[in-house]
Amino acid sequence: MHQENYDVVILGTGPAGLQAAIHSSRKNVSVLILGKQDRSSLWWAHIENFCCMSGISGEQILKTGMEQAQSFGAVFLDEDVLKISAPDLSNLGGESFSITTETKQIKAKSVIIATGTTRNKLGVPGEKELLGKGVSYCVECDGNFFRNEPVAVVGNESAAAGGALHMAELTDQVHLVCSKAEISSKLMEQLKEKGVTVHDGVEVNEIEGNGQVSGLVLDNGKTLPVNGVFIELGAKGIMSLAASLGVQLDENMKFIEADKQQRTNVPGIFAAGDICGPPLQMAKAVGEGCVAGINAANFAKKH
Ligand SMILES: Cc1cc2nc3c(=O)[nH]c(=O)nc-3n(C[C@H](O)[C@H](O)[C@H](O)COP(=O)(O)OP(=O)(O)OC[C@H]3O[C@@H](n4cnc5c(N)ncnc54)[C@H](O)[C@@H]3O)c2cc1C
Repeated sequence: MHQENYDVVILGTGPAGLQAAIHSSRKNVSVLILGKQDRSSLWWAHIENFCCMSGISGEQILKTGMEQAQSFGAVFLDEDVLKISAPDLSNLGGESFSITTETKQIKAKSVIIATGTTRNKLGVPGEKELLGKGVSYCVECDGNFFRNEPVAVVGNESAAAGGALHMAELTDQVHLVCSKAEISSKLMEQLKEKGVTVHDGVEVNEIEGNGQVSGLVLDNGKTLPVNGVFIELGAKGIMSLAASLGVQLDENMKFIEADKQQRTNVPGIFAAGDICGPPLQMAKAVGEGCVAGINAANFAKKH
């Protein structure tokens, strides 16, 4: 297998990875950015809440970001990382990380993990067809579009309860649908105070609508007449890669722990964006990408 060497290798071509590539390649180090761009969460989004730009498609942002990164010298490889291994961390001087992609073996002095998260799906009819037409995976991103309209939030944990409380600030017709609620009594009280209707112990059978969501069909025979359905079932990160390197994860094993310099506990490995936890937003992803890019380049220069 062909082997290549880079100072900095960035896993992920979403906004965190692209911003990291822009900042690290301007520090005169060699940079490779890996991943399939149409798998970024941003690809399907339409951004209204990013400072200084409005009404722009995620696809357009990603394509522009890629052109910028390449213009500063970053090399792009449209492949997934399959394996990554660390040098002997007790003796790091000059050693490199080994990264295996679909076709290449790559050595890197520092690595930035910016692989984002995958939102868990409900897996019911209507979910895919009505995505962006009333179905959303992000209360913070899309909640505002449903002011004063009837909505349902689907999920069992505090993220779903938090989503329902967020929506209760915007509309007084909020349903929280849980197959098995795992929500603290304090949060339950808050939901009651805010007038959220909690349906516990029910499954969703279908999301109804003809080009736009019109109802949520439950397995107890009821159909909730809603215009918006927020699926808050949590997010899966690509944790096995990180865990295999000994990178510290949060207590729920969902996100990577990184400090304010975007350093993980493993010297030379940085992390940025959604993989570092909420808020799962582009503004946070690019901020963290910038910090990670600068620090990963500095690390590579020193080693
Ligand atoms: C429908 C929708 C609407 C949204 N709307 C908004 C909004 O209005 N405003 C807002 O701020 N945010 C919004 N978001 C959230 C925003 O898209 C994310 O916060 C942002 O994309 C996170 O950036 P990231 O770089 O961390 O991860 P991502 O953009 O998800 O990028 C992850 C990258 O990692 C790559 N990758 C994954 N696994 C591997 C691997 N093994 N090897 C190599 N590469 C890999 C992927 O191919 C991808 O390129 C929305 C998200 C969705 C899903």
